Amino acid sequence: MDHPYAPPSQVTEALGRGWTVLTANQRAARTLRHDFDRLKRALGLANWQPPAILAWETWTATLWRRLLLEGHGAALLLNPTQEHSLWREVIERDATSLRPVDSLAELAANAWHLLHAYRGRPRLNASTDSADTRAFSRWAMEFERRCTRLNYLTQAQLAEALREAFSNGHLKPEPGFLLVGFDAKTPGQTVLLEALQAAGAHIEEWRPERPGAPSIAASSRWVGLNPPDATDLATQLPEEFPPSATSFRTALIAAPDEQAELTACARWLRVRLTERPNSCLAVIAPAIEAERAGVDRTFLHILAPELEDIAAPPGSGPFEFSLGIPLTQTPMAATALDILRWVVAPLPLERIGALLLSPHFAASSSEHVARAEFDAFTLRRQHLLQPQISLDKLIELISYSKSSPHLPILLKHLRALRAFLRNIDLTAEHTHADWATTMHDLLEAAGWAAASRDNSIEFQTRRRWEDALDELATLDFDNRRVAFATALVSLERIAAQTLFAPESRHAPIQIMGPLESAGSTFDAIWFLRAGDLTWPTAPTPSPLLPWHLQRDLAMPGVNPARDSAHARRIAERIAASAPTVLFSYAEETPDGHQRPSPVLASLALESRSATEIAPAEPAPESVYLEALSDDTPIPPPPSHVLQGGAAILQSQAACGFRAFAEKRLFASALDTRELGLDPRERGSLVHDVLERFWAEVETQAALKLLPRTEREILLARSIDDALARHTTATAPTWNRAYIDTERRRLVNLLRPWLDYELTRPPFAVKSREEQLKDVQIGPLRLNIRVDRVDTSLADEKPAGEIILDYKTGPAKPADWLGDRPDAPQLPLYAVVSESPHLAAVAFASVRAGNAMELNGYEARKGVLPKSTRLKTGSLQEQVAEWREVLTSLAEDFHAGNARVSPKQYPSTCRYCEQRLLCRLDLTTLEADAIEDLTDDGDTEITDDIVETIRG
Ligand code: SF4
Repeated sequence: MDHPYAPPSQVTEALGRGWTVLTANQRAARTLRHDFDRLKRALGLANWQPPAILAWETWTATLWRRLLLEGHGAALLLNPTQEHSLWREVIERDATSLRPVDSLAELAANAWHLLHAYRGRPRLNASTDSADTRAFSRWAMEFERRCTRLNYLTQAQLAEALREAFSNGHLKPEPGFLLVGFDAKTPGQTVLLEALQAAGAHIEEWRPERPGAPSIAASSRWVGLNPPDATDLATQLPEEFPPSATSFRTALIAAPDEQAELTACARWLRVRLTERPNSCLAVIAPAIEAERAGVDRTFLHILAPELEDIAAPPGSGPFEFSLGIPLTQTPMAATALDILRWVVAPLPLERIGALLLSPHFAASSSEHVARAEFDAFTLRRQHLLQPQISLDKLIELISYSKSSPHLPILLKHLRALRAFLRNIDLTAEHTHADWATTMHDLLEAAGWAAASRDNSIEFQTRRRWEDALDELATLDFDNRRVAFATALVSLERIAAQTLFAPESRHAPIQIMGPLESAGSTFDAIWFLRAGDLTWPTAPTPSPLLPWHLQRDLAMPGVNPARDSAHARRIAERIAASAPTVLFSYAEETPDGHQRPSPVLASLALESRSATEIAPAEPAPESVYLEALSDDTPIPPPPSHVLQGGAAILQSQAACGFRAFAEKRLFASALDTRELGLDPRERGSLVHDVLERFWAEVETQAALKLLPRTEREILLARSIDDALARHTTATAPTWNRAYIDTERRRLVNLLRPWLDYELTRPPFAVKSREEQLKDVQIGPLRLNIRVDRVDTSLADEKPAGEIILDYKTGPAKPADWLGDRPDAPQLPLYAVVSESPHLAAVAFASVRAGNAMELNGYEARKGVLPKSTRLKTGSLQEQVAEWREVLTSLAEDFHAGNARVSPKQYPSTCRYCEQRLLCRLDLTTLEADAIEDLTDDGDTEITDDIVETIRG
């Protein structure tokens, strides 16, 4: 009997005979080597000869190196990056296409590979039938001519070169080869294997088999291109199966939709793992790269919910993906590329934020909070927020910010980076190797990945990154010199093409695509997405090769019947790779209703439903809930904590809980700043300009006397001075153009506003933007700023004060009224002014067009150009009423009245930032729910509605 850790006996026997085991993919080679090593360790050995188990690609590359070492070959074997560069060069000189050269070079390399794998190169030139195929034929000739002249060999030509070496005796084969996991062989592989046989090597093929799995030609003499069809595998299944109720030999499972399919798979895996923790399970899906995020999320939730914690170590769950992700998608490599892009040009604001929050940049465990605070409260709150930030600008911002003392390590690395850059000329042309060294040094200066040596995954990522830099250096094969930016583009491409997967932890659940599973066996397999819309995925024929040539050579993608037969063979191989194999599909997909894939027909699968094979777990017993009244006031904090202005009263009027959350818990939504000036800054610019203007003009009479041109000059100067606060001497072009636009907007807005001021009854400006500190309203002491106070003039004599509140958005006097006023600022100014001669209070609507007006309440007729009828007997009575309302709001806030009580539901809640804290059920803000709650829009809130809001 095989040892439980042993690789298949056919593999160990072949190795024992001194044969080489060749696998169709790297995964199978890795798994067999791992099993072999475990077997040796289990047998008590301390050291042993590494087994000759190689993936096909590794084996051919090794042979080529051997040929070079033995002096029988002189050509340089191009790696994919070098080949791409050569194709680029050829195409760039010839390109008549509008397509990007990089994508054409990729298509050309792929067509070149197919041509050689299917031995069609000699027939290409005579087969061209379109502009594209003729273009490729030209490129191929030129590419080949260069390769011959410069003595290059491509990976695609390697099999033929090795065949020749075996045929002419330059290479001697090993005594035998065992092939593992080849669903099909290309003609190029076939002729090389024939050459091996002709040179005396034995060749056998083994198809994976587990005890209990059906046998398909378990070990056979190698006979040709493709393995024999295995038909009606279900009839070959052994009689004994694991006793679990959730175990089936082979079955076809229908799920209502794709998520239900994933969920059923995860539940079934969980039961399997609980019953047999040492199982080796596989999940196979046709387009696993696209499914990766969804599979990861669902599996984590069902198989290891404890790892959903953000602090859980990465890659520690009971499952792992076999296929890697592009290196560019790993956080470390993404950070490295951002740093390198940054030294060439300013980076977008979002990328700067990501750098600041990255543990791989200027690494320091003691600064991460200060860095996050700087990002949130300084970087994103700068005046005139710019879309891109340069290295110099960031250093300047940090140096002059309050965060500076808390960010010494970040500043040290930024300055080191800048100092490094001062000594190099990025526009000069150097070799790729030189630039690879420079990039390495730049990253060191930036403190990139300094902590990565402590963490295995980060250590491996760093090693992969260094491999990518080494690959960049190989672009010197043609002695070209390039500028830094060009080398960086090449590095970005290399990193995008490099797949990174951490070393396997040999987790009990392996997730992979159908081709990767070739050559491996498992205790059980679940094959996802086996519907007729999702599998088999149709291979795409090459657009650069003549269609009839592809058909004649039996290339993939041109003959649906042949592609289906190939997919069927894969299905049959998978069905034979474990004692229990389940195929599943979703009956409904985003693309429509689907049935099982026709390639499963020969397997005669037993049909099961998803709920039958993976029943839902019983709901947890209900938890006892204790009712807690939230009406109890929360004691006030010390008075120095309660700081603020009229906004406290405005929030309290809108909703007690909102005021509590905003002003006592200081909770706010994540800042989503706009580039340039946000509406608040635009509003304060208007205040600023008018303050400067009236500081010089002072009265309406003076304004009337001011000649038009002088008025224009004064307005322009006031605007320039106000804008100067937002501009720096080193402002980039974008900044200056933006400021010019803003200047024109202010002129167009304020010129007619001054014309409007001329039409008002006579006035003098008494105070502008006056700050009143520590004013008392009820138990609160507030700091407020009154926009403007004018003195009304009658017969050139003072006749009372007019309190003005500038508005650049909609506002109406009705917003001052009621127990819960929407805009309590101006009533507050009126109350705290305690003016015995208050003549009017008004909104000064500085808005374009007809909305430009002064509107409010006046004590007597003729103070304002437009007034609204008072709801009380006099303005003094109105102020007295406001005092009561505002005092009551202040008392409520001070007493901690934090009831969830929006003034008008749902409009009060719609833009409130505290919706998460107050547990508002967001779905109630959807249109239908709102209609159910209110007949005519907003409604007064009741306790019942509060319950509904919370869901
Ligand atoms: S969302 Fe509505 S109920 Fe919740 S705090 Fe804001 S205003 Fe109050």
